[in-house]
Amino acid sequence: MGKIRVLLQPLGFIDEDILGYLRKGIEHVLKGLIVDISNRVIGIGSEFMNEKRGQYNSDLIIKFLAANLVGHGYHRVLGVLDADAYSGSLNFVFGEAYLNGPVAVIYLARLRPEFYGEPSDEELFLERVLKEAIHELGHTFGLRHCPFRKCVMSFSNSIWDTDYKSYMPCGRCASRLMVYGIRALHL
Ligand SMILES: [Zn+2]
Ligand SMILES: [Zn+2]
Repeated sequence: MGKIRVLLQPLGFIDEDILGYLRKGIEHVLKGLIVDISNRVIGIGSEFMNEKRGQYNSDLIIKFLAANLVGHGYHRVLGVLDADAYSGSLNFVFGEAYLNGPVAVIYLARLRPEFYGEPSDEELFLERVLKEAIHELGHTFGLRHCPFRKCVMSFSNSIWDTDYKSYMPCGRCASRLMVYGIRALHL
């Protein structure tokens, strides 16, 4: 089976360190994926923003990614936006993905400790970013939410859930990725 190529797509400015960490982390956990960082920054304009809420509309963003970025030799596109977003009836989302689909996106604003009035902690922040990225990519490879709370595929209702869970899938979720040729590090 050929390697699965993932495009990491900054939506607006994202620090190179974050993108580099993500690329390495994703390839480390989801072995079999090849991650490239797009050298083209795509701006997300105010038309994607709900001014009243002060949040981006994730549904519009993910549709935009699906319409504009899919193809070009990549099997999956993971957008990264340093902002806060909501989706449907959810007050906020850390990310969103198409189940079995080609696109996913993660939002960084609520992954920073500062958002919760805590001191900056780069290591904790990066770990959260990786967990959310693996989680959303997992959805694109057909994984649904997992009841095992340590599994990266468990649903995060809050940042505390994110901190509790691992960046790795459980054995059961990992085994489901094997049809894609992905040999995931797992719990
Ligand atoms: Zn999810
Ligand atoms: Zn699981």
